[in-house]
Amino acid sequence: MGSIGAEELPKVEKMQMASTREEKILVLVRLRPLSEKEILASEAADWECINDTTILYRNTLREGSTFPSAYTFDKVFRGDCPTRQVYDDGAREVALSVVSGINSSIFAYGQTSSGKTYTMMGITEYTVADIFDYIRRHEERAFVLKFSAIEIYNEAIRDLLSTDGTPLRLLDDPEKGTIVEKVTEETLKDWNHLKELLSVCEAQRRIGETSLNEKSSRSHQILRLTIESSAREFLGKENSTTLSATVNFVDLAGSERASQALSSGARLKEGCHINRSLLTLGTVIRKLSKGRQGHINYRDSKLTRLLQPALGGNARTAIICTLSPARSHVEQTRNTLLFACCAK
Ligand code: ADP
Ligand code: MG
Repeated sequence: MGSIGAEELPKVEKMQMASTREEKILVLVRLRPLSEKEILASEAADWECINDTTILYRNTLREGSTFPSAYTFDKVFRGDCPTRQVYDDGAREVALSVVSGINSSIFAYGQTSSGKTYTMMGITEYTVADIFDYIRRHEERAFVLKFSAIEIYNEAIRDLLSTDGTPLRLLDDPEKGTIVEKVTEETLKDWNHLKELLSVCEAQRRIGETSLNEKSSRSHQILRLTIESSAREFLGKENSTTLSATVNFVDLAGSERASQALSSGARLKEGCHINRSLLTLGTVIRKLSKGRQGHINYRDSKLTRLLQPALGGNARTAIICTLSPARSHVEQTRNTLLFACCAK
């Protein structure tokens, strides 16, 4: 894991200045390569990144539609781009604002098999490595890094670090805001400790899954890092203050669930395959992208309620929209790009 220079890290003063103005949501788009299966099926790749901000639909001849063919975002990443680059050129600044006491959230949005988990795992690991590196170089402060992991499935919250399957409740804490009652919080010792915890989560997430991608495509996974720090010279003294912030890594349910729910209005009431959290998140993001004022319906879903402190106000937000280049997925790819356009 590469180390980082102090000059590259967000400075507390700089970040606090930045947080007094309105931060836009950072919208990144990542195109994955064709999978082996898609190549074997002789699938065509219809999407191409023509520079580092624009993605192009190449099959316009077949289309003859009014649908736009070029889309521009803060950054787009080609199929052969490593996750390290997605992190360095996009997500890193947002994730590391946590060391300056600023909450942040990084989302992966896209259809099942577009690369959300692949992307989010890498970004979580790079962030933790950078935070440990930062802690090593700031001996004047005492740091505590805490990790928790939950899954939201059908609006029920489950602890991914515990084998006890009882759903967890959300509580309104007068000081901390919305919290997950009794959630397991591990104090991270080092990077290897994180790797261990991630494999526990992975195993927990698979429990109850009947077929590949079945449940993980309908549930949201939230990995949360809380970093607390205080100046050593004031430790234990009355004027000691603790800086605390969280960064959330959110691996969302497959976005095809949102469009299915929308396109089958009558079925909504039956309660099948509905993902209220995903739909509400879309609404919240659209409102936030137009400026962070006015009423925002965070309380309409568990996901947005839980993430409210890391979405509104001074919080920093990045959304990584993941895409498959395959022709057979064009419909879902466009839906994802439309979501991405709404967020920017
Ligand atoms: P999702 O979480 O969106 O359902 P995954 O992250 O599980 O999708 O990715 C589906 C498959 O594609 C996995 O086997 C993963 O390793 C592979 N994959 C995803 N993105 C990339 C990428 N950028 N480069 C190479 N392989 C990728
Ligand atoms: Mg996944």
